Amino acid sequence: MYCKLCLKNTDLRESHIIPETFYEEIYDNLHRMVFLSLKDTKLKFIQTGIKEKLLCHNCEQRFSRWENFLKRDLVDFGNKKSKYLKFPILEENFIQVEGIRYNEFKLAILSILWRLSVSSHPYHCLYKLGIHEDKLRHILLKGIAPDESIYPIIVTRHEIEKEFDPGIIMQFPPKVVKKSFTIPSHTIPPKRFEQLLTIEAFTIWGHTFKILINDNIFMKVNLENFLRKSGHLNIKAQELIEFMSEDSVLSRIYDQDVNNIYEKMIDESE
Ligand SMILES: [Zn+2]
Repeated sequence: MYCKLCLKNTDLRESHIIPETFYEEIYDNLHRMVFLSLKDTKLKFIQTGIKEKLLCHNCEQRFSRWENFLKRDLVDFGNKKSKYLKFPILEENFIQVEGIRYNEFKLAILSILWRLSVSSHPYHCLYKLGIHEDKLRHILLKGIAPDESIYPIIVTRHEIEKEFDPGIIMQFPPKVVKKSFTIPSHTIPPKRFEQLLTIEAFTIWGHTFKILINDNIFMKVNLENFLRKSGHLNIKAQELIEFMSEDSVLSRIYDQDVNNIYEKMIDESE
């Protein structure tokens, strides 16, 4: 079979789409979790994160190196302390981080987004990157993160009653926004263009990552709150409840079937 990243015909591994390490806080004592979706009618336990034959051994190793950096950083963001990172601003609803390894951090996030898009598993069907799927494949294969304004990333931290909560993975449908840009030219005034851009998002380890699907260098993006090449990142904290809307999967948590399966989990784990 062909590796989806390097396209070599070789033995493929059962690769996690979202790395197993980000499921750690989700499993109960019996290593079970429940997958919720707005359409789900039959809830059942899942014993392991979703896997699929996607990558060869080498490509899997490449991803796991980036994931280890990302996990270490996310754990430290969660604890608001670190041996490697600095937190010049630590306020109740806002954290400023310094010292992030831009290359590894960004490649890890882009690699998860790419895997969500490449996956043919029905649970990940929300993610379809179109032409950007192959553009990201080239970036990941090269192993050099693109400039901060290309596929820029914004990060939000989730709290439940002010407590950080790494125990949730969420997926979101794409959101389309309109952005304008100006191509430098000799015409006065310079020509302005408008383009529709997609924002893709997912939540792992208590943080939601929003990625602006843009590789147009002329697009003006105010990068203040995005991941910077310098290793700076501004993170806003948000109560998970603020995500609750009718089209959000969080609205399912009050449903009877969800309550029943959660109670079963608690009873059987004790
Ligand atoms: Zn490969």
